[in-house]
Amino acid sequence: MNNRLQKLREKFAEKEIDAVFITQSENRRYLSGFDGTAGFLLITEKKAVLATDFRYIEQASREAPDFEILRIASNIADWFPGLVGDSGVKRPGFEAADVTFNFHRQLSDALKKKKVAARLVPVNSLVESLRAVKEAEEIDLIMKAVAITDTAFECIEGAIKAGMTEKQVAWELEKALRENGSQALPFEIIVASGPQAALPHARPSDRVINDGEPVMIDMGAKIGGYASDLTRTIYVGVPDDTFKKVYNTVLDAQTEAMSIIGAGMTGQQADNAAREIIDKAGYGEAFGHSLGHGVGLAAHELPRLGPGSEETLAEGMVFTVEPGIYLPGWGGVRIEDTVVMEQGKVRGLSQARKAKYD
Ligand code: ZN
Ligand code: ZN
Repeated sequence: MNNRLQKLREKFAEKEIDAVFITQSENRRYLSGFDGTAGFLLITEKKAVLATDFRYIEQASREAPDFEILRIASNIADWFPGLVGDSGVKRPGFEAADVTFNFHRQLSDALKKKKVAARLVPVNSLVESLRAVKEAEEIDLIMKAVAITDTAFECIEGAIKAGMTEKQVAWELEKALRENGSQALPFEIIVASGPQAALPHARPSDRVINDGEPVMIDMGAKIGGYASDLTRTIYVGVPDDTFKKVYNTVLDAQTEAMSIIGAGMTGQQADNAAREIIDKAGYGEAFGHSLGHGVGLAAHELPRLGPGSEETLAEGMVFTVEPGIYLPGWGGVRIEDTVVMEQGKVRGLSQARKAKYD
């Protein structure tokens, strides 16, 4: 944990802040170890304070030994100015993507009222950029979540038959995830059949799956706070030529991207590795989303692998590689693996079957 605080403090100068006020829940957990659902952190050059209410005091002292625990009331004006003023902080950063307009106003009004001469400075991706690079223990947890997901998918794949509804399939998958040790669902499972599969984020419905349709399944597990993310597209019945062509193109794009992506590339370059293959096959317009995203405490986090992403892919990053082709009226295919950047290259973690069609 200390190491994470150290790395955070090293970023203060560049952001022109002398402290940071953390409100975002995964960031709070990442920096402090405390996984309760309410609380704030104030981290200065010298101090690290975890402010939470009476429900969590005991848990906080146990989970966040590097932090001074401050018991707070629900009214921010009662404790925030004192916390900032006593720390001698002049330019505390706040998480601009997390703090609402109303909450920001409460914070700044409270400082003004108590005549604390500190100016709140918006910061972006401060902790998120640290979280993007995983430590060995984090990668271990993600690998466990990936293994649970693979097992759950394999348990259910063979049982998906014409006549079942998408919701029934989603429920079977959810049970299998739980039974195999997933502590929660990092996101709602997607089961999209037939034309529904043309929508990248379709919700499972009461639609009955027919023979001769693709079924796209996107699911993940969570363990020790860490997520995995997996998509497989199967075919109910005997695959036709369209499905084979689309499926093989997506798989080629994914395989190629996974072999080309390396440390030092930008998110855009990584995305391009897959996009070129889909373009060449004539489906360029049908791949309307980014190639991938980081996975960790959140199922979607930094880095972003997509058009316009200047983020540099680095050793220890865990992210997805998930090209897709979506054809309105027909359906779609997406294949997604969770991978880790290791020794400069991508190592695929997901093992669920995804063989090419002849
Ligand atoms: Zn996914
Ligand atoms: Zn994903």
